[in-house]
Amino acid sequence: MSNEIYTVDVDNDGIALVTWDMTDRSMNVFTQAALEQLDALVDRFVADDAVKGVVFTSGKSTFSGGADLTMMKTMLAGMAEEKRTNPDNAQQMLFDQVGRMSWLYRKIETCGKPWVSAINGVCMGGAFELSLACHGRVAADSPSVKMALPEVKVGIFPGAGGTQRVPRLTNAQDALQMMTTGQSLTPSRAKAMGLIHEVVEPKKLISAAKAMIKGGLSPVAPWDVKGFKLPGGQVWSAQGAQLWPAASAILRRETQDNYPAAKAILQSVFEGLQVPIDTGLKIEQRYFSHILQTPEAQSMIRSLFVSLQEINKGARRPEGIKPTKFRKIGVVGAGFMGAGIAYVTAKAGIPVVLIDRDMEATAKGKAYSEELVKKGIQRGKTTKEAGEKLLSLITTSTDHADLADADLVIEAVFEDRDVKKTVTESIEAQIRPSTVLASNTSTLPITGLAKNSKRPKNFIGIHFFSPVDKMMLVEIILGRKTSDKALAVALDYVAAIKKTPIVVNDTRGFFVNRCVLRYMNESYNMLAEGVPPAMIENAAKMAGMPVGPLALNDEVAIDLSLKIVRATIADLGEKAVDPRHLELVETMVEKEGRLGRKNGKGFYDYPAKPAKKHLWPELKTLYPQLDAAKVDVQELKNRYLAVIALEAVRTVEEGIVTDPREADLGTILGFGFAPYTGGALSYIDSMGAQAFVDMCKVLARKYGKQFRAPKLLVDMAAKGETFYGRFNPYKDEKAAA
Ligand code: NAD
Repeated sequence: MSNEIYTVDVDNDGIALVTWDMTDRSMNVFTQAALEQLDALVDRFVADDAVKGVVFTSGKSTFSGGADLTMMKTMLAGMAEEKRTNPDNAQQMLFDQVGRMSWLYRKIETCGKPWVSAINGVCMGGAFELSLACHGRVAADSPSVKMALPEVKVGIFPGAGGTQRVPRLTNAQDALQMMTTGQSLTPSRAKAMGLIHEVVEPKKLISAAKAMIKGGLSPVAPWDVKGFKLPGGQVWSAQGAQLWPAASAILRRETQDNYPAAKAILQSVFEGLQVPIDTGLKIEQRYFSHILQTPEAQSMIRSLFVSLQEINKGARRPEGIKPTKFRKIGVVGAGFMGAGIAYVTAKAGIPVVLIDRDMEATAKGKAYSEELVKKGIQRGKTTKEAGEKLLSLITTSTDHADLADADLVIEAVFEDRDVKKTVTESIEAQIRPSTVLASNTSTLPITGLAKNSKRPKNFIGIHFFSPVDKMMLVEIILGRKTSDKALAVALDYVAAIKKTPIVVNDTRGFFVNRCVLRYMNESYNMLAEGVPPAMIENAAKMAGMPVGPLALNDEVAIDLSLKIVRATIADLGEKAVDPRHLELVETMVEKEGRLGRKNGKGFYDYPAKPAKKHLWPELKTLYPQLDAAKVDVQELKNRYLAVIALEAVRTVEEGIVTDPREADLGTILGFGFAPYTGGALSYIDSMGAQAFVDMCKVLARKYGKQFRAPKLLVDMAAKGETFYGRFNPYKDEKAAA
C-alpha cells in the first residue's frame, strides 16, 4: 500500500527488518498513523511463528525526530471539546491518549520476541524511547548519530517510558542530568552510560543488529527479570540519600522552579523507581497529562517548536519570488561583527569576500574564523578537512571592486552615519544594480541610511547579535522603501546560514534592542530606589532571565549605554530620558572609569581567573540602600517581565512587529526572555490581558510611567482578546491557539 509508513523484509533466519520511512516527510515522526501501523506490526509478528525477532531502523539519513508535537495540540483541543460535552470524562480521555505511545512500547517490550533498534542517525524523544523499549540497541559510529530526550526544552518531558527506562539502565544522577537538560549523547557516551549495547561501523549496522538476535538476545527486559537491581541503587539506599536531596536543590538552582516539566522528571523518576515498571509507567503518564495542560508546556510548544519551525521555513517570505542561490557574499568591515558574519557564512558553505580598510584589519577579521575552527577541531566539533574548507571560502581584500559579483553585501563598518554613507556609495559604485545591500547597524534607522543609497528598494537591515556564531536570531529591518525582493534575498540568506529571522519595520532600536533597553533601564531604576544590587540580579534570574541586567549591561558596555542615552537626548530631547539614568551611566563611565567587561570594571569586578566576577562592592554606596528584607522579590520579578512585555506591545501597536510569533521568538532568542513563558506576548496571553493590565496599573502607580498599558492592551483586555487571536498569524482563523 502506498500509505505504508514501514516496510517489512523477513530474511531466511526469520528476522523481520522493519524500515521506517515516511515518504511525505523529510524526517520520520510518530503520528497517529505511524503508531497505529506499528501496533498492527507488533500483532502481526507475534502471530507469525516464522518471525523470530525484529530489527527496527529508519530508511532516512536521520532515524527520527520523535513524536509529532502537533499531536499534543490535537489532544488538548480534543480534551477542551470533551470538557464541554462530557466534563467528567475529559481528564480520563487525555490520560488515555498520552499513554498511547508508552503502552505500545511496553507491548513491544513484552511481546515475547526480541526487538533490536538499529540507530542510523539522529534519534530524538519518542524514537529514542521506542529504542529503549527494544531489547537491544545498536548505533552507527558516525558524528551524525545523536541520541537525546530533549522534550524539556519545549516544556514537556519524556512521557513514553523515558523517565522509567533511562534510570533503570544507568545511574539516576546521569539519567536526571540527561533528561532535565535535554542534552544530546554521542553513540560512545550513550554506550558508556549503558543506554545502548553496541556501536558499530555504519555499514555493519543491520548485520550487527541481526547478530544480536541470532546470538540469543533475550526478549525480556532486565527490569522484568526477578531480582533486577537498579544500577544507581534504590532511592532509599545510601547512594540515593546522597543524590536526591542534592538533585532537588540543583534543579531549583537551575530552573528557579519556573519549569514544571523539569520538576515532573524528578518526581516521575523518584516515585517510579520505587515500584514495578508498569506502575512506574502509569506514574509517568499521570505527570505527563498534568504537564501537558500547563501554560508553560503550551506556550513553549507553540513558540519553541511550532512557530520556530514555521519561521525557519520562511513563514514571512514574500510569495512568488525565486529563491536566491548565493555564490558569493560580500562583508565590508572586518571588525568584531564582520568577522563573525564572514565565519557563519563560510560555515554554511558560501564563499565570502571580507573587506576592510587595510590588509592588517582583514587578516585580523579572518583570524577570528581561524581561531573558531581551531577550537572546533580541538573539541571534536569539526574535522581538519571541514575547517580548511571553511577557511578557504573566506578571501580578504581592501578593494570594493571585489564585490562586483556578490549576490548580497553586508556592511558592518563603524556605527557612524558619515562612515556608513561613504561606504554605501563606494559599495554601490561596484555592485550590480539589483544586488541587495544590507546594513548590520544596531541603532541607525534603516530608512535614514537608505537615503545614502541610489536604490533604496535594494537596501535592508540585517541585524546580527553578538557573538554572531552563537546567537541564533537575526533581525531583518525593512526601510520605508525596501522591496519584497530585498526581503526575500535577506530571508534566503538567513535560512542559508541556518539562523532564525524576524522581520520588523523600521524604528529607533528596532525590536530586540528596544525591549532589552527596557530591561536594563528597569535595573537602573531599582538601583536608584536603593534595591540591593545582588537582589536586582537575583530577581532577574528568578524571573527566568539567563543573565542579570547589570551583568548584561557590562557585556554590552556601559559607555555604549551612555552613548545611547546622549544620542536619545540629542534626537528626542531631554524629556525622553530619565535623568537618573543619565546620572548613573555618567558616574559609572566618566567618574569611575567603569566601562563594563571590556575594561574589567563595570557593575561587576572581573578579577583574574580562576576567581569569578562579582558585583562591584562600591555600587551600593552610590544610593542609600533599602532593607533587603522589605523588598518584595515577586514584584521585582514582575517588573522585569512586565516592562519588557509592555515594550513588545508598543512595537505591535506601532506596527513595528506584525506577527506575534516573531515578537515571542525575538524576545527569547534575542536575549533569553524567560523561555518558560513562550515569549513576551505569550506571557501576557497566558496571564490574560485584563490581569496583566491590572498588574501594570499597580506597578505604574508605584514605579512610573514605563508600566502604563498602551491603548491596544486596554482595548484587548476589555474585549477579552489574546495576541494570537487578534493578530492571528494564520490565514485559517481556526489555526490560532
Ligand atoms: P568594529 O569597530 O569592531 O568594526 C568595524 C570595522 O569596520 C573595523 O574593522 C574598521 O576598520 C572597519 N571599517 C571602518 N571604515 C571602513 C571602510 N570605509 N571600509 C571598510 N571597512 C571599514 O565594530 P563592530 O562592533 O563590528 O560593529 C560594526 C557594525 O555592527 C556597527 O554598525 C554596529 O552598530 C553593528 N553591531 C554591533 C554589535 C556589537 O555587539 N558589537 C551588534 C550588532 C550590530
